[in-house]
Amino acid sequence: DKSCTEPKLEGFVPLFLSWESFYTRNLYRRARDCWNRPISSCAGGRIDVMERVSPDYGWNFQLTGKKLNVMNFGSYNYLGFAENSGPCCDQVQAVTEKYGVGVCASRQEMGYMDIHRELDLLVAEFLGVEAAITVPMGFATNSMNMPALVSKGSLILSDELNHASLVLGSRLSGALIRTYKHNDMDDLEMKLRDAVCNGQPRTHRPWKKILIVVEGVYSMEGSIIRLPDVLRLKKKYKAYVYLDEAHSIGAMGPHGRGVVDYFGLDPRDIDIMMGTFTKSFGSAGGYIGGSKSLINHLRTQAHSFIYSTSMSPPVAQQVISVMKVIMGKDGTNQGMKHIRQLAWNTRYFRKRLQDRGYIIYGNKDSPVVPLLLYMPSKVAMFSRETLKRGMATVVVGFPATPLIETRARFCLSAAHTKEMLDEALKIIDDVGDLLRLRYSSLKPPDF
Ligand code: PMP
Repeated sequence: DKSCTEPKLEGFVPLFLSWESFYTRNLYRRARDCWNRPISSCAGGRIDVMERVSPDYGWNFQLTGKKLNVMNFGSYNYLGFAENSGPCCDQVQAVTEKYGVGVCASRQEMGYMDIHRELDLLVAEFLGVEAAITVPMGFATNSMNMPALVSKGSLILSDELNHASLVLGSRLSGALIRTYKHNDMDDLEMKLRDAVCNGQPRTHRPWKKILIVVEGVYSMEGSIIRLPDVLRLKKKYKAYVYLDEAHSIGAMGPHGRGVVDYFGLDPRDIDIMMGTFTKSFGSAGGYIGGSKSLINHLRTQAHSFIYSTSMSPPVAQQVISVMKVIMGKDGTNQGMKHIRQLAWNTRYFRKRLQDRGYIIYGNKDSPVVPLLLYMPSKVAMFSRETLKRGMATVVVGFPATPLIETRARFCLSAAHTKEMLDEALKIIDDVGDLLRLRYSSLKPPDF
């Protein structure tokens, strides 16, 4: 690259040098069209993907004006509420007419509307905790609230696969961070034991607070947190638990109330319940739920609450409407129907993929289904060939995954019908055979 060969001024570091020389740039040089695909429809069960061409495989591309209407297996629209029709949409439309879109002030100033209060109370009721606050952005819910909870002198024990927003929040807090192996309770216990006695018998605890940070469902692995074990360890070592339910709230549990509901646990045992509205609720923003004193503390300490404009009213209304449907407060059983449809779709799709000889990761009840492509070289072809056949998928590779664990990731939705799932399986078979993805085809030939 030109920027790399230019003579260097002493002490001067070009702004983009590290990125320019980052070797994954070349790893996916000819696969860039597989990411950032422009879409011109709502993120529903089917989407319109806009065709584009990039003659030099660069970042600059032109739109051809053609659209492909394909099945959507890439959005986190778990319960199918991202669709742009139905009673929830009508309510959102009415709220937009009444309040407009922008709030133009933070909560502490002129940005606290009745709709925000209604949302906070509803979220607390839905979670089964004393109180909750809501934040306009899921990412900021983690990154801006964690520093209000722990600081220098505290210890964070973080699952190695935790989301970037949790990692950023942990770093911003100033607490010492130690990671433990993904979902490995022995490793977590070893680190807890180490933290409490630091290798020697001690009469006092060396840390002000110990915070265990976990997610409900891991979005790259499809794994479910071993929450009962985490809670057992939290009690044994007198630590606190921060649970991010971005991918599990709405999508897991018999009542859609996340992994706590899935394991039949008491939500009050979790110190900090965090989640987002960007997936199952088809909206935007995040929440933190817990005890009244925790929420009152965050109201006065969290940057996301004090220095950021509060949630857009139509966005808040979408969450309120969907949450009421899930809770059955709309007087129908639509919510339960969506929850059951997602659970059925998940088991059906996972089982069929396994039966066909693919390696998939994750728990049988997780709606996130990673399918191994093994090699980064297969990324572009899998993505393009499935799209060509009518199915939009997400492909993920190094550095987001280990080099030989490149994968496609399907996000199941209640918006998928059985016919759509069968069609998707057929497409995966066609492309899977083209790329030799079934493990039966990986065996060395018999000589
Ligand atoms: N937490 C987790 C576990 C996530 O996966 C994400 C993003 N998908 C976030 C937080 C951030 O949420 P949002 O996209 O709503 O900002």
